[in-house]
Amino acid sequence: MVVRNRASALVLLVVIAGLLLALVGDRRVLPSPPPTHAAALTDKFQLLRQQMVKDAIVGWGIHSPEVIRAMGEVPRHLFVPADFIDQAYENHPLPIGYGQTISQPYIVALMTQELGVNPGDRVLEIGSGLGYQAAVLAECGAEVYSIEIIGDLADGARVRLKEAGYDQVRVRHSDGYWGWPEAAPFDGIIVTAAPDHVPQPLLDQLKVGSALVIPVGPPGGYQELWRIERVAEQDFRSTSLGGVSFVPLTRTE
Ligand code: SAH
Repeated sequence: MVVRNRASALVLLVVIAGLLLALVGDRRVLPSPPPTHAAALTDKFQLLRQQMVKDAIVGWGIHSPEVIRAMGEVPRHLFVPADFIDQAYENHPLPIGYGQTISQPYIVALMTQELGVNPGDRVLEIGSGLGYQAAVLAECGAEVYSIEIIGDLADGARVRLKEAGYDQVRVRHSDGYWGWPEAAPFDGIIVTAAPDHVPQPLLDQLKVGSALVIPVGPPGGYQELWRIERVAEQDFRSTSLGGVSFVPLTRTE
């Protein structure tokens, strides 16, 4: 295009400026860009988690609003091995390596509800696995101490808890049979592997008025889940919560 005189040049400039402005203006009203892959995945997991809470938590009779909220918040898919990520929100246990499992969501919710966690409570967990139950306790506001006997799992739990934003949870690599005497007494103790008897050190580390939730029974089969409340210094009251199947509590020699 040839510009013949100053007036035409001016008109052309105004037209170009107008076009540019229109473009910039347009950009503001363009719809937001399509979600990135990561954001789409987050949405997908959020939907699956809501479904899990509806079907397997509320649907199976969990009634504590605090536990229901926590189960809806904790990103369970960050606590399962990559190979099982698509099953993260299904209501069953999954392998986490070393012959161990991440517990079924309903059982995690039931044990947390029976423990009765209040914000600021000091809670001991025996059997961190990859840290899911510890994350649920932390989400309920507990100060969590968790013990795992397999070193690689303890490391895995620390990494995953940090990634999910629960880096205040303390994870120790040792035999949980002996509890965590330096941090005792506890407002609650939860054991996620089954011994064949109730460890005395755990009873000793409970505050009066607090509960120990623990599966007890022979390894490899079904055990009974117990809620044992310390009603007085020397008085414990046990209530059965039904049959469960946990990996055995193993011991260091
Ligand atoms: N709480 C976990 C469940 C993990 S399965 C979760 O939320 O997914 C039980 C875990 O207990 C296993 O990782 C196993 O290695 C561990 N464990 C078994 N015996 C133990 C012991 N004596 N002390 C600490 N951890 C133990």
